[in-house]
Amino acid sequence: MLNIKKLLLLFILLFINLSTTLFANTNQRITDIRFWQSPEEAQVVLDLSEPPKVSDVGRLNNGTLYFDIKSCVFKPGHQRYALQNQFLESLSVQQNDDNGSTRVFFKVPHSVEAKTFVLPSNERKGDRIVIFLREPQSKILQKQTAELNEVKKLKAENIKIVVLDPGHGGEDPGTSCNGIVEKSYVLAMAKLVKAYFDRDPRYKAILTREADYIIPLDKRREIAERLGADAFVSIHVNWNVKKAISGIEVYYESPKGAVNEADRLVADKENKADFATLGSTNPVLAASKNQIAQMQANIMDQSRQLAEKVEYKLGLALPNLPSRGVKRAGFRVLHSLNMPSILVEYGYTSSKIDSAILKDYTSRTKLAQALYAGISNFLQTKVEGGIDADYLEYYKAMNAKKAKLEADKKKKAAAKINATSKKNSTKSSKTAAAKPRKHKVKHGDTLSAIAKKYGVTVQSIKTANKMKKTDVIKSDQILIIPAK
Ligand SMILES: [Zn+2]
Repeated sequence: MLNIKKLLLLFILLFINLSTTLFANTNQRITDIRFWQSPEEAQVVLDLSEPPKVSDVGRLNNGTLYFDIKSCVFKPGHQRYALQNQFLESLSVQQNDDNGSTRVFFKVPHSVEAKTFVLPSNERKGDRIVIFLREPQSKILQKQTAELNEVKKLKAENIKIVVLDPGHGGEDPGTSCNGIVEKSYVLAMAKLVKAYFDRDPRYKAILTREADYIIPLDKRREIAERLGADAFVSIHVNWNVKKAISGIEVYYESPKGAVNEADRLVADKENKADFATLGSTNPVLAASKNQIAQMQANIMDQSRQLAEKVEYKLGLALPNLPSRGVKRAGFRVLHSLNMPSILVEYGYTSSKIDSAILKDYTSRTKLAQALYAGISNFLQTKVEGGIDADYLEYYKAMNAKKAKLEADKKKKAAAKINATSKKNSTKSSKTAAAKPRKHKVKHGDTLSAIAKKYGVTVQSIKTANKMKKTDVIKSDQILIIPAK
């Protein structure tokens, strides 16, 4: 799980458009070209020695797309990569001797959507240009519908759906130590675990990724939710600077992670309610924050039961690879309200003992079988209907703390206003308060947030601006804020 934050950052940065010019540079070189592919999308990554200055993407008459990297040298001058896959027919890079720039051509099949981004360097990677290629959205939706119909059939036959999530992938290798690269290791493990489920007619196991490519963390969880998973298990190996630390860990959602997620869902819900999804049937959108906490408390208790059953079986698998127990952490992949979710760390690559065991074929089989047995045990036992009482207690304490902080803030603000109005008693503060104000809508604003800011109701803003029930606000729109 080492790279969760960096991975997230990578995906945020992916949306910085290529046309954003960075710093001028000289003697720049393309040092490597890499290609990643998932069933729905592909990425070509160009590694550069310095921050690139790039042109917008252009199109030639034959449909080939291209862009220029200014002041950039590419050796051996011209190179063509015939990739011949569903996203990219060919990629060529050519040195332009006239002006010292390098031109990158990519020929994509007709329907593929292409976007290009610049990624700045970080501790692990240098400057990069990413060409992001995707199937058209309509085709992706078509596929998802077919998949969903199949899952519905299976569910009708009482076949349980298990989603296994090999961590990391593609641009994000995870930990690399003692001959184990996490992204490859956990993919192989997930496939082994899936093989056990495939032999058992009571289950259908699905992997979130089947090859070496990156998936955003939220998307991993969403894949499982979309498929109505009865259990979601993310698979990782761990690393620590202290090489003596050794053993298996099984995680489920922490109270702190769940409270943050509840806050995020409420904020998200307010945005959606204002902007688009009027009349949505999504139960989370209809739920209050307290109801969300209740849903979390129910599902977290199931996650605990899944974690305990898995941890028990994994702990018995190999005498030299002990379990370090069930733990709790606010990992993003564990936030689901819909399915019991756990994360397994199959030992420490930083430990010589663990890594030797993890590389041994017989041990790997035993570890895969133990995970299968633990999940199966959970799914075949009647789940005890319980709630995570610790969480609800924590949730209440956090809410009380927040309420107190807010009350204190209000008190302070009121005291300040009092003091100012006393000072300015000659100026009419009354007329200022009674005057309507104006608000320019910023990106991400919601009506409810604006209403709260000015201490008025959403309805009064709608009335003042003659908005219909279904009208939504747009960036840069000027809203009249009625007097209190
Ligand atoms: Zn990991």
